[in-house]
Amino acid sequence: MPLPTPRKGEEQSHFVSRCIAFEKEASPGRPEDQVQAMCYEAWRNREIGQMRQALGEGQGQGGPRQGIGGAKYCRCLKCGYEMEHNRNTPCQETKCPKCGSSMIGTNIKKAS
Ligand SMILES: [Zn+2]
Repeated sequence: MPLPTPRKGEEQSHFVSRCIAFEKEASPGRPEDQVQAMCYEAWRNREIGQMRQALGEGQGQGGPRQGIGGAKYCRCLKCGYEMEHNRNTPCQETKCPKCGSSMIGTNIKKAS
């Protein structure tokens, strides 16, 4: 069960008490000091979460993404050669086997 996350503009004391109440109900056997520690930890991590949200905005969540595990195929910018994306290597770091140019990630295969 994930802990609640601080809302925008929420006070620390308000969030922590809300978080403790939530966690007590979710895990009744958990010691109080442990619950408090978890909630303070969640509060400290709030900036990371908000940063992630900010980064996600404007990128078109759910759209095709590039990078590790993102794209299905890699396409050569120069000669148009397409190959299956090796998930361990970003397409940008993959060299075209035909001409040696940089490749980009894509989910749409043009040629077959
Ligand atoms: Zn090429």
